[in-house]
Amino acid sequence: MKRKGILVVVSGFSGAGKGTLMKQLVRTYDQYALSVSMTTRAPRPGETDGREYFFVSRDDFEEKIREHGLIEYAQYCGNYYGTPKAYVEKQLLDGRDVILEIEIQGALKVKNQFPSALLLFVMPPSIKELQRRLCGRGTETEEVIRARLSRAQAEAEGIEAYDYLVINDHLDTCVAQMHTLIQGAHCTPGRNGVFIEQIRNQLKELAKGE
Ligand code: ADP
Ligand code: 5GP
Repeated sequence: MKRKGILVVVSGFSGAGKGTLMKQLVRTYDQYALSVSMTTRAPRPGETDGREYFFVSRDDFEEKIREHGLIEYAQYCGNYYGTPKAYVEKQLLDGRDVILEIEIQGALKVKNQFPSALLLFVMPPSIKELQRRLCGRGTETEEVIRARLSRAQAEAEGIEAYDYLVINDHLDTCVAQMHTLIQGAHCTPGRNGVFIEQIRNQLKELAKGE
């Protein structure tokens, strides 16, 4: 029986290492499809349109909202971010696990629409290390870093909505743990309803024949 794809939502404080982890996850295991979001924020040095994000104007983003072309969207520190619908739907239909790296408001909207989505929250090993990574990345001004840390405080209040925490201390260990959790999620009864029904029906047929 063809396995259904799982929608995997990955969130975490800015600087926790989500982007780095996701790149390593898809590089290490070729079965995952990484959704590329749309955003109105400016590209960072080294980011390419269509790879990290689709970088668009506010007008274009709002047009996409009106067209119902996004699964979810949210505002984060003054910019829009959203998940294009077409790619995710196609990958799930093809049976691939699709990873959405999105913030918490979007994560909750996805959970409402797709109750079998798996929600992972990436934690830094400590807040000192989070600050070190966020400042060390060198891509944001001090003011933006402050806004992102303040946002982290609000996000920390919603962590219980997630299925699992993963601690990004050693990158490779964390990537391996995410892979194990996603593969484990394929084995829950809730995500295997059709197969369970088939087995039940076969047992009924068997009992009739006796
Ligand atoms: P996010 O996408 O969560 O905002 P990034 O992936 O951009 O975070 O990572 C923030 C910074 O931390 C980057 O400079 C990245 O190289 C670094 N980083 C990520 N994971 C680790 C790790 N496990 N150990 C040390 N540094 C890390
Ligand atoms: P960054 O600017 O650091 O790339 O992303 C800022 C925040 O936006 C991160 O928490 C990231 O996970 C989130 N984000 C990225 N894409 C999306 C998206 O499509 N939808 C939502 N809701 N959040 C997103």
